[in-house]
Amino acid sequence: MVSRFGQLTPDPILIAGGGPAGCAAAQTLARLGHRVRLVTRPAPDGGARLAVSIPPSGAKIFDLIGVTEAVDAAGFVRTSGNTAWWGGDRMRVEPFAAGARGWQAEVAALSRVLLASAAAAGVTVESRAFTSEEARAATAQFVLDCTGRAGVLAREPGVRVPEPGLRSVAMVGVWQRAGGWPVPDDTHTLIESYEDGWAWSVPVGSGMRHVAVMVDPRRSALARGQASVEVYRRELAKAPRFHALVGDAVLQEGPWGWDASMYHATRYVHGHVLLVGDAGSFVDPLSSAGVRKALVSGWTAAVAVHTSLTRPAMRETALAYFEAREHRMYAGLRRLAVEHFATAAEGHTEPFWTGRQAPASGDDEETGEAHPEDEGRVREAFERIRRAPALALTPGPFRLEPRPAIRGHEVVWESRLVTERTPEGLRYLQGVDIVRLIELAPAHAQAPDLFEAYCAHEAPVDLAVFLTVLATAVARGWLV
Ligand SMILES: Cc1cc2nc3c(=O)[nH]c(=O)nc-3n(C[C@H](O)[C@H](O)[C@H](O)COP(=O)(O)OP(=O)(O)OC[C@H]3O[C@@H](n4cnc5c(N)ncnc54)[C@H](O)[C@@H]3O)c2cc1C
Repeated sequence: MVSRFGQLTPDPILIAGGGPAGCAAAQTLARLGHRVRLVTRPAPDGGARLAVSIPPSGAKIFDLIGVTEAVDAAGFVRTSGNTAWWGGDRMRVEPFAAGARGWQAEVAALSRVLLASAAAAGVTVESRAFTSEEARAATAQFVLDCTGRAGVLAREPGVRVPEPGLRSVAMVGVWQRAGGWPVPDDTHTLIESYEDGWAWSVPVGSGMRHVAVMVDPRRSALARGQASVEVYRRELAKAPRFHALVGDAVLQEGPWGWDASMYHATRYVHGHVLLVGDAGSFVDPLSSAGVRKALVSGWTAAVAVHTSLTRPAMRETALAYFEAREHRMYAGLRRLAVEHFATAAEGHTEPFWTGRQAPASGDDEETGEAHPEDEGRVREAFERIRRAPALALTPGPFRLEPRPAIRGHEVVWESRLVTERTPEGLRYLQGVDIVRLIELAPAHAQAPDLFEAYCAHEAPVDLAVFLTVLATAVARGWLV
């Protein structure tokens, strides 16, 4: 584009890839008033399909991006939990807490909904393939690689770090069963571990389910070049519950192979290029976290780009914030996946399981979130607060230091509580501003008075949540 001064003006922000990450970034930036061009390759007709499960925690990020209505209107199956045979024969029916519901959706269908929403927000969408040459020639102020595992830019040598111990291939077929599926709740994701891998199934409506097996490509018959449909059926036959379930169902389409091996990036920011969503890192599907992670990554990238463009002095801080967030998100989800594999490994001794407990190769820093081992200490602190005739709380040993954080749609510096366990600093726990809580606590002898004072100064919070956070502050020694 040529300006009236005859000079090249920068292109708008350029986003490659119209999956969850690209759409989240594009819509957020467009709503913040930026010109955004999104180039995405359309899915080929009759190509591989994949249904995914999005837990209820996805609701918050749908809201943040502004797509809740569009996702609701799409009519995806709403799920109330999981049914698992994990590491043994016992069936566990696990409803989501407090009756919450998640979503079961084909990634392509969800992406279409998100793309239409981004276009309605003003994003210019081009339906074609994007190349790395085009990226290099682009004069855009920022280029976001959101092309998923394809990683148009993320595949440059030296950028991605594979995890050799966590290689998996998913083989996915679409099955139809007349009269529904004989499980306690047909909206549930079904999961079964078996000797050489694990199987899972996601319903997509009217008696139809995607049924997948997850195998190690080096150890399965795939590596010996056998026909995929034979390998798929043979793997399913090893999982007794799934074998019984598909017994009188019909395989309608597939199977298709999906590489589901984990990887992360050495760096997520390369000058004006950001690696976002699966382009930067991929976590095992076992966590059911990929879509949410991609949406959060897209939103965070958009906030970092917006901050850089509107407050150039904050550019370095904002991009470093995105970089650190991506590292932390991957490390946390990787740890969860390995822990989950370890629970099944108690019931399976085959190499698929024993090889899957690799220690972290990347950084694995603390996030300040609750640890299971904290639970007892928090409960005990809660009881002490409840029984005490009067509180006499004073701040414990910690430092308050400025750290970057997102407020609204910007990266800003804010005062955060820094301890050995939370070097990145902590400001909010369950929505409660702990710095403010610690400031107010010494002046109040009764918990209800402290609660009222907090709500008068800050956005009101739920009393039970407030008391839990107060007990956490005492249990962790921030208040003594
Ligand atoms: C087997 C399997 C099971 C999974 N199960 C779950 C689950 O249960 N729950 C869950 O949350 N997640 C699951 N995931 C992960 C989830 O699908 C991804 O994490 C999520 O889709 C990532 O979003 P993204 O936008 O980063 O990438 P993608 O969804 O991969 O989107 C990338 C986009 O870029 C486009 N593109 C690619 N190359 C180019 C190019 N050259 N030019 C232009 N456009 C291009 C693609 O067409 C696509 O639209 C699963 C993944 C696999 C493989």
